[in-house]
Amino acid sequence: MFGSATGDGGGGPPAAMRRVSMRDLAAEHASLRPQLDAAVRRVLDSGQFIGGPEVEAFESELAAALGCAHAIGVSSGTDALLGTLMALGVGPGDEVVTTPFSFFATAGAIARLGARPVFADVDPTTLNLDAAAAVAAVTGRTRAILPVNLYGALAELPDAPVPIVEDAAQSIGASPPRAAAATLSFFPSKNLGALGDAGAVLTSDAALADRIALLRSHGARPKYHNLAVGGNFRLDALQAAFLRVKLPHLAAWTVSRRDTAARYRDLFAAAPDLADHIALLRDSPAHVYHHFVIRARDRDGLRRHLAGAGIATEVYYPSPLHLQPCFAELGYQPGALPSAEAAAADALAIPIDPSITAADQEYVVDRIAAYYRR
Ligand SMILES: *Cc1c(COP(=O)(O)O)cnc(C)c1O
Repeated sequence: MFGSATGDGGGGPPAAMRRVSMRDLAAEHASLRPQLDAAVRRVLDSGQFIGGPEVEAFESELAAALGCAHAIGVSSGTDALLGTLMALGVGPGDEVVTTPFSFFATAGAIARLGARPVFADVDPTTLNLDAAAAVAAVTGRTRAILPVNLYGALAELPDAPVPIVEDAAQSIGASPPRAAAATLSFFPSKNLGALGDAGAVLTSDAALADRIALLRSHGARPKYHNLAVGGNFRLDALQAAFLRVKLPHLAAWTVSRRDTAARYRDLFAAAPDLADHIALLRDSPAHVYHHFVIRARDRDGLRRHLAGAGIATEVYYPSPLHLQPCFAELGYQPGALPSAEAAAADALAIPIDPSITAADQEYVVDRIAAYYRR
């Protein structure tokens, strides 16, 4: 959207060295410390460390909290994608249409099954997979479509005669699953984070849920009788116990993220001179604001300037998936998916952790404005 110039990002020492972090997990865990300690003790005392009652309790609490029939706990968001695509029968020779602008796991899960990721461009106003472009990319070999609810905003679902799996790693709580299945990640920095790797699949399809549950434990049913070749995608009891401590707070954390996003929008609207340099992504009622992303002229210079002012930022994602070296054999060239490539050059996530204060946010927007006033 904006050219990527190479400003020096300088600027003098900030007036007050405030620190604004992207994700303050220490604060989150300090407030829950007694319950987290109790969870460790409970699992130690139970002697059951993989699967079992702690995992089953988490699965039913998660399904109830998110309004879906089935939640299957798995080992990570990556394995949630892998297990779901396996359960849908995706394999060699198949194509799966997906977004070029996501965390690598989205396309990696497709490729690991021997299938071909087919990338369709993103909508520049949301950076989510463009539904019409996705439909246009469907062929006779398309086995599934895999949109990502990027940054916490629900992607528009394509209207196509193949199963749709939502990569909902960043959008927990935005909606019950709208398609065949939705996959979650509980990577520590996600809106609901474990203290290690963990994930889940949500679905209203009992047969699909059963198939994923089978595959997560090597397809064995009963034990040592393998009906299918699966993997070890199981959720640890300890992570389930930690997630049970945090889950009851998720709704309040989401409210806080939405309030923070609304305040950023007000602050940017009150700085009209910034409109020449900064663009905001489209707002939507279901958005759970895993990230608050701006599109910034001279993004990398702005980033250095903010770092110098004690403000952490992140780039999600610096290069689009269709141009990753491991996908060179797919034959995409620079320029193939221009909206995704432009976003990789100008998207910048600014802090939206539930611990952020209104004063922190004023400081962030003030420092952004100072960069472009130079
Ligand atoms: C975090 C994330 C994943 C992977 O989750 P892990 O739990 O780290 O394996 C997949 N897709 C998206 C969009 C993510 O943000």
